[in-house]
Amino acid sequence: MRTLISNGLVVTADGSYPADVLVDGETIALVGADLAGRGVTADETIDATGKYVVPGGIDVHTHFELPFGGTVAKDTFESGTKAAAHGGTTTIIDFAAQARGRPLREGLDTWHAKAEGHAVIDFGFHMMMGDVNDGTLAEMDGLVADGVTTFKLFTAYPGVLYSPDDHIFRAMLRSRDNGGLILMHAENGPVIDVIAAALVAAGTTDPIGHGLARYPILEGEATNRVIRLAEAAGVPVYIVHLTSRDALEAVTAARDRGAMAFAETCPQYLFLSLDDLGNGFEGAKYVCSPPLRPKDHQADLWRGLLKGDLQAVGTDHCPFDFHGQKELGRGDFRKIPNGLPAVEDRVDLIHQGGVVEGRLSRERWVEVISTAPAKIFGMYPKKGAIAVGSDADLLVFDPNRKRTISAATHHMAVDYSIFEGFEVQGTSDVVMSRGTVLVRDGAWVGPAGHGRFVRRAPADFVRLA
Ligand SMILES: [Zn+2]
Repeated sequence: MRTLISNGLVVTADGSYPADVLVDGETIALVGADLAGRGVTADETIDATGKYVVPGGIDVHTHFELPFGGTVAKDTFESGTKAAAHGGTTTIIDFAAQARGRPLREGLDTWHAKAEGHAVIDFGFHMMMGDVNDGTLAEMDGLVADGVTTFKLFTAYPGVLYSPDDHIFRAMLRSRDNGGLILMHAENGPVIDVIAAALVAAGTTDPIGHGLARYPILEGEATNRVIRLAEAAGVPVYIVHLTSRDALEAVTAARDRGAMAFAETCPQYLFLSLDDLGNGFEGAKYVCSPPLRPKDHQADLWRGLLKGDLQAVGTDHCPFDFHGQKELGRGDFRKIPNGLPAVEDRVDLIHQGGVVEGRLSRERWVEVISTAPAKIFGMYPKKGAIAVGSDADLLVFDPNRKRTISAATHHMAVDYSIFEGFEVQGTSDVVMSRGTVLVRDGAWVGPAGHGRFVRRAPADFVRLA
């Protein structure tokens, strides 16, 4: 099967130019001007006049079917990856969880079983390490060899996922030898728990307490600390879901002194704020960790994306229904399941807030939603590129078409939208994964179970820094 995408403007992280793209089977076979006029034939031609042709979005931070807080994140690999595809994302990396006291491999196998045959777009895994010990440290090497090269540790959630500094440091030392990368959820969890308990004791039990307890300075402190640990170990580190000026300052300072510090932010931190956590229990819809911040942090995050101190936008997609799930935390904000639905809206929202509103070039938009994640997570140029031999994961993106985000029309398996009523300009007309069209003009046209595991390689962090 050969598909010719003609007359579009190819937009990559490096530049934009008018060109046709020939897809042969699962990969890109040719990129050039007027391919049809030069005798190139195809089984199907997609006219992209007036549209961008961009690499499919890569969301390196999702949680499908994750057990958390006595319940399970609503989206399955099927519903979640379908929603992602509707929103122009063609690859996700989900977090496999280690059950406490059990081998990493067992957790990874569980996640493979959840995804294989169900995911409709390509997927990789990070490993969440709940226990750092001699056994799990040794297991890391085998996971890296099997294409699971990234390990998430937490300075938050004491008693659940929390790792003390010496455990983090030992995992970092191991990654120095096996080429893996440590990802950090950086907030000072033990201190946050003290503040949260005091708030509840004083009668603040509504969701706003979640935002008030988790001070930005405690994200800044933990971010600086884990970067310093990485520097001491001589390894790169990647900060997941960075939310605040305080944490960004730590990353920026580290990069300025030559540390290999990388960080992502998420759409919710760029578009929403602490104000959304108010409004009584309605605020539970917006409970995630780290929390939404006062509005004045947003401009700093956008500037971080512009300047390159933030390299990527993921979503931390982890949806819970308002009715029946978020409600577990009525009367105590500490019991609200942490997480938001966002996987479907990331590509269009960053186009809106970045390109349409003049904060990022369209090339930088492509970089933060696709190319940089592909590079940092060892998938480039198979993913994140429009080049001969790359996977034909492509969007025909109409930069002018407008749509309104709503739970009534989204495809995520959750009963509300955090971006309800937001109007965005720019959305995908065609979403292609490895040469197969999955979504056309908003309708699902793809096969079931199309997604395939992406075996990732260790990245060259010295070059990326
Ligand atoms: Zn997460």
